[in-house]
Amino acid sequence: MLVIMKNDATEEQVQRVIAEIKNMGYRGVPMPGAIRTAICILGNKGAVEESRLLPLDGVKELMSVTKPYKLVSRETHPQDTIITIENVKIGGSNKPVIMAGPCAIENEKQALTTAEIVKQYGATVFRGGAFKPRTSPYSFQGMGIDGLKILKKVHDETGLLTITEATDHVNLDDVEKYADIIQIGARNMQNYSLLKRAGEAKKPILLKRGFAATIDELLMSAEYIMAGGNHRVILCERGIRTFSDNVRNTLDISAILSIKEVSHLPVVVDPSHAAGRRDYVIPLSRAAIAVGADGLLIEVHHDPVHALSDGMQSLFPEQFAKLMEEIKYIYK
Ligand code: PEP
Ligand code: MN
Repeated sequence: MLVIMKNDATEEQVQRVIAEIKNMGYRGVPMPGAIRTAICILGNKGAVEESRLLPLDGVKELMSVTKPYKLVSRETHPQDTIITIENVKIGGSNKPVIMAGPCAIENEKQALTTAEIVKQYGATVFRGGAFKPRTSPYSFQGMGIDGLKILKKVHDETGLLTITEATDHVNLDDVEKYADIIQIGARNMQNYSLLKRAGEAKKPILLKRGFAATIDELLMSAEYIMAGGNHRVILCERGIRTFSDNVRNTLDISAILSIKEVSHLPVVVDPSHAAGRRDYVIPLSRAAIAVGADGLLIEVHHDPVHALSDGMQSLFPEQFAKLMEEIKYIYK
């Protein structure tokens, strides 16, 4: 249930409604919008006693939310959410944000060299895993905390924002300290202790869709983070498992449209983990921008042939330059 406040409702009136919702045994979360504030009622199992809220000053109407998720829903927040981190804006009608870098941070030279390359061609966020969720226990697992320190150095030396993955609720503490955006990977989309910890984080979260997750399941996971108090959530389509075995994962390009129809959160696309091969990354990026993705998460390495993880899908610097040039025209 949503309490829709009048356009000229005061902050005191909003707080009075939230206090009454608390008296009723529920939680009221304000969702300020460009025109009006809506207050989302959380925790009610059945109907809410409308007669206790409707007469309060500043209340325009009560509206039921038809979806199982509330805070992520466009019914609750009709305008697109725009997430601002330093001078970068993600979502709404802003230019697509390009997050690029290696799958994993391997050493300082590799990270700084790749960061300078992606910056030169227009990326504003540097990606690089320090805690790597690898299918095989014998594969490179990432540099851990030392990788996070390199990531921080990349930020300080290049001015690029940084994104890296937290793989559990314990290492999220360190990721939050060193990175600008916290990534939750496909394998962890339904790791509820991690989602709850992400809800308490003071940094934005990029939540990837699980290999076999529906859109509703992705949105329910985002709801965990928002219900915990962190409203800065970016969703990411990165390909799903289907019967097609021609590529690593099938990029669900229509997911961008479906998510945007029902949710106000920004959606970015990771074509690298969908394709699994670098020659498909540029065409899939063009497609993602054409359907309205708010950004791309791309694997780029200064020397992909010698990459310690996901080298086959990592772009060479000149391919990244080409990608940036091509999506510019599509975006326009
Ligand atoms: C990654 O971005 O490095 C990664 C492991 O992605 P995913 O969780 O989508 O597999
Ligand atoms: Mn990877």
